[in-house]
Amino acid sequence: MRKKIIAANWKMNNTKEDALKLLVDLVNQNYSPELRIIIAPAFTQLAMAAEKTKLTNIEIAAQNISSESKGAYTGEVSAAMIKSEGVRTTILGHSERRALFNETNDTLKLKVRSAISEGLEVIYCFGEELNDRKLGNHFNVVKTQLKTALFNENNESWNKIILAYEPIWAIGTGENASPEQIQEMHMFIRDTISEKYGELIAKNVSILYGGSIKPNNAKDIFSEDDVDGGLIGGASLNIDDFSLIVNCIQIE
Ligand code: PEP
Repeated sequence: MRKKIIAANWKMNNTKEDALKLLVDLVNQNYSPELRIIIAPAFTQLAMAAEKTKLTNIEIAAQNISSESKGAYTGEVSAAMIKSEGVRTTILGHSERRALFNETNDTLKLKVRSAISEGLEVIYCFGEELNDRKLGNHFNVVKTQLKTALFNENNESWNKIILAYEPIWAIGTGENASPEQIQEMHMFIRDTISEKYGELIAKNVSILYGGSIKPNNAKDIFSEDDVDGGLIGGASLNIDDFSLIVNCIQIE
């Protein structure tokens, strides 16, 4: 049975002091243990975050990892390195990494493999640009993003994959997709996975939505059948907004 998940992408925000304060606030919220809360701080704060949340139900994720496992790759951080800091999950394929750091679906295939072979769980982000949607090409774009990066994985790997559909035109823009547009795409994603891996795997994969989720729109988005939670950017930096969003999730 798939779990409800709220993940927070802190991006390149928060000094160590800011991060520490936010972590303490998060731990003190006592969110329902039925819900997975996954926080992704910067690399430099992973060890501290893992330590501070060790005895709680808050989980920590990296925002990215290298596709390489070790060696002469200055500035890179491997799956094994984050795992050795007590981190079990990584975001991969965020649209900012794709747009600003040239990550392609082919690069992401290698990163996904690297993470899963090290035993990490992956939150795989993908989504179309505004122009794709205007041209009616959004389903094709999403299908390619899934197929190229994920469809060489075996059935077993799907225990380690969370999907995050994030239409690029809705990230950090204040413009979010409508609940109907989100449900339509999430259903398409589940059908695409079902075609390749069968109904059981498709039914069990958690599919998050990300893109300008705020306290005033979270409830409508989370109440769609194929939405299993959210990936929150801007609103995750404020404990009150984040908690209001978390409380919009209905747990069966
Ligand atoms: C994100 O960066 O993954 C994101 C969803 O950001 P925001 O919530 O700020 O749109």
